[in-house]
Amino acid sequence: PQDGQSPPWYPSPKGGIYEDWADAFKKAAELVTQMTLVEKVNITTGTGWAMNMCVGNTGPVARLGFPSLCLQDGPLGVRFTDHITAFPAGITVGATWNKELMYERGKAMGLEARLKGVNVLLGPSIGPIGRLPAGGRNWEGFGVDPVLQGMAAAETIRGIQEEGVMATAKHYVGNEQEHFRQAFEWGTPNAISSNIGDRALHEIYAWPFADSVRAGVASVMCSYNQVNNSYACGNSKLLNGILKDELGFQGFVQSDWLAQRSGVASALSGLDMTMPGDGLKWANGDSLWGPELTKAVLNGSVPLDRMNDMVTRVVAAWYQLGQDDRSRWPLPPPEGDGGPNFSSWTDEETGLIHPGSDDTITGVVNKFKDVQGTGDNAHKKIARQTAAEGIVLLKNNNDTLPLYRNGSRPGDTSKRESKVRIGVFGEDARANLDGPNACEDRGCNEGTLGSGWGSGAVEFPYLVAPLDAMRDAFDEEVFYLTDYPENDIPKTKVPELLDDQDICFVFANSIAGEGYLAADGVKGDRNDLYLQKGGDDLIKTVADGCGGGNGTTIVVIHAVGPVIMEKWIEHPNIKAVLLANLPGQESGNALVDVLFGDQNPSGHLPYTIAKREEDYGPSSSILYYPNDIVPQQNFSEGLYVDYRHFDKFDIEPRFEFGYGLSYSTFHLSSLMVQRKAPRSLLPEPRPNDTAASPPTFDSALPEPSSALFPESFRKLDKYIYPYIGSVDDARPHGKYPYPAGYDEAAPLSPAGGAPGGNPDLYTVHVKISATVTNKKLVPGQAVVQCYVKFPQDYVDEETGEKIDFPVRVLRGFDKFDISNISDGSHRRLVEFELTRRDLSYWDARRQNWVMPDKGEFEIELGFSSRDIRLSGAI
Ligand code: BGC
Ligand code: BGC
Repeated sequence: PQDGQSPPWYPSPKGGIYEDWADAFKKAAELVTQMTLVEKVNITTGTGWAMNMCVGNTGPVARLGFPSLCLQDGPLGVRFTDHITAFPAGITVGATWNKELMYERGKAMGLEARLKGVNVLLGPSIGPIGRLPAGGRNWEGFGVDPVLQGMAAAETIRGIQEEGVMATAKHYVGNEQEHFRQAFEWGTPNAISSNIGDRALHEIYAWPFADSVRAGVASVMCSYNQVNNSYACGNSKLLNGILKDELGFQGFVQSDWLAQRSGVASALSGLDMTMPGDGLKWANGDSLWGPELTKAVLNGSVPLDRMNDMVTRVVAAWYQLGQDDRSRWPLPPPEGDGGPNFSSWTDEETGLIHPGSDDTITGVVNKFKDVQGTGDNAHKKIARQTAAEGIVLLKNNNDTLPLYRNGSRPGDTSKRESKVRIGVFGEDARANLDGPNACEDRGCNEGTLGSGWGSGAVEFPYLVAPLDAMRDAFDEEVFYLTDYPENDIPKTKVPELLDDQDICFVFANSIAGEGYLAADGVKGDRNDLYLQKGGDDLIKTVADGCGGGNGTTIVVIHAVGPVIMEKWIEHPNIKAVLLANLPGQESGNALVDVLFGDQNPSGHLPYTIAKREEDYGPSSSILYYPNDIVPQQNFSEGLYVDYRHFDKFDIEPRFEFGYGLSYSTFHLSSLMVQRKAPRSLLPEPRPNDTAASPPTFDSALPEPSSALFPESFRKLDKYIYPYIGSVDDARPHGKYPYPAGYDEAAPLSPAGGAPGGNPDLYTVHVKISATVTNKKLVPGQAVVQCYVKFPQDYVDEETGEKIDFPVRVLRGFDKFDISNISDGSHRRLVEFELTRRDLSYWDARRQNWVMPDKGEFEIELGFSSRDIRLSGAI
């Protein structure tokens, strides 16, 4: 295909061909067979914005016991409701590098969603991947690396779905910035086009989606933007080709909210569900599907078998997650007490049943069900643990941290004469005086920062501010704590506030969020990478003045992504720096855990912190002004995002990807690298036997009149129904001019063959083992990272082309708790397995993963992307 263009890929692959989903498809087919066309359409089309209780609601088929599905945000908890847990955001989760916690958090979110009556949770977010450090929604995902994102997504999905809730991998794909993500918010005629090369698409952007599909994700959300100048939700190459054929996705594709930009074309391209049902405009009652899809099927523009596949995928996903189990998923009233037990649109107990319409009927809409878990199963424990493990200790000169509860220093046995004077500075230390939910969808920067803003935020049940937790934790007999939790310290007040302190804590932050809101001039994407609200100046003022210039300053940052720290990071009085990311409701508690060493810090950076914004590379900045009718954004850096860029151009970062300090000192030894499978250029051919065949259905089109509104039907204003008003547009009109490429079935991808892709891609080729030792008498957790260097002079023999590889790429990680010092078990066995995919690159010419068959791979183990402790060739 031409550069910046997306090739056609038709027809849409049908679901129901793989073992894992075979039963669910069988059951689904039995149900779908009994459905009328309007019933099928009803399941694929949302009822319209705010028409029912959730942010997305599908139409039910009550006659057959198939309920309306509730689709609700989001990636860090259940949005728009009460008595839930506001977990740490994805970026904080990524910073933990703890797979078990990723899974536990997912499971808790899944349980909360189920107990609230949510069928489909709209998370995790694994796109944006974070290509642009200022991108507004990077914090919803897990960090700027496909392997980190992919493994975190897989654990999260496994957790959510074990509770029977369908997870959603979003946003597929290339939605790397908020500006011009779509047209309706930004006043441009078209959404931005992310122009992504085939190799980067596979090795970076689609990679975590492959892991999600392999983990069994039920739903994928296509994004607002265009990819290679074709809207992501109508891009046949992306949906039919890569997602459904190559990655073998068996669930359903739902559009982001109003990301569908065409009716027939998006159906042919592989979209299965339109959300929230409204069409080109928000909440005006028109849909691109609903009645239009009914007509399109009746008149032959959308083949009936595509329609059947769309609905069967949704119903199969419902069975796959066990949502037909009435003991867990009772039917909604009047039959049962299931369905959502909260309203996204009001906090009152009673409210409108269809708030988006003219209907005035009210009822009990909020049951205030507490889903936070209790006792040992209280989800706040997971939230606190995740927040604590997500804190990255960036600097800790002279072992300033941890603090001792009795105020002493290590080796200092004498009893202190006077109290240790602690000063706490910065607005980010304290609560928002108007409460943590004062601003819509957390769209302002007031008080301490617990999450970014947008659909990826929730209503905080509470938010423990650092200052409050510190007041509780610092023993008044030992410490004398004063605070000035504002960002402006007037010059005249400096001596009074700072002179008498021993230790000064200074808090600062940086926020961003989804593009439909703006705060302090930040329109979704950040305007720069500096701390906001004067944070840098505040830190300098405190560091200069604390203890009359002799005090110890400890900096705490809450941020959506990397912040440039050069204005103060080397200040001699700044002894310790903690990056607490976006900690969620347990913010202060988690911080105190780390300050006193109850939690030994074990967070590592899920991105690079540069010295200068330009260091991220020439194509790393947001496109703030449209540069064309369809704003064009070329991903011209290819694979060289974040650390791949810094390594390639030998740029020294301030703190590299994967970096993080501990109160312990860890050591790696005894590397063993073993080959487990013979090396060969290409994977086994794609298996051509599939476990099952897609279900087949009666191919006769129904009578158009059967799709008319039932007589005396009471229509609600702006509600999206599947019925048509007249049979005129529904008559078959001969052959519909299908898009170019439709008549010739696209060749199946050699990289496909199972959910996640060709099963041979997951054959283990290399096993690695080593020992990690804790050298200090303090329990701690080590994050061991496994990087791979591809053969550096590798030439593709068929083309004579030298293949370019990044210096190193992350291929695995694990966290090791080495706590049991006393019984001598202060070492742990480290093991990694590398698959064929891990050792291959995407060859656009062969359209397959290729494993270099000559030259050495180097396997590196270390504690960051630049702190490599062991390496071995294979
Ligand atoms: C966001 C999605 C979200 C949806 C529903 C969209 O604007 O991009 O991430 O799930 O709204 O709230
Ligand atoms: C909604 C979000 C949605 C956004 C899209 C907002 O009004 O609350 O859910 O993501 O619009 O622009």
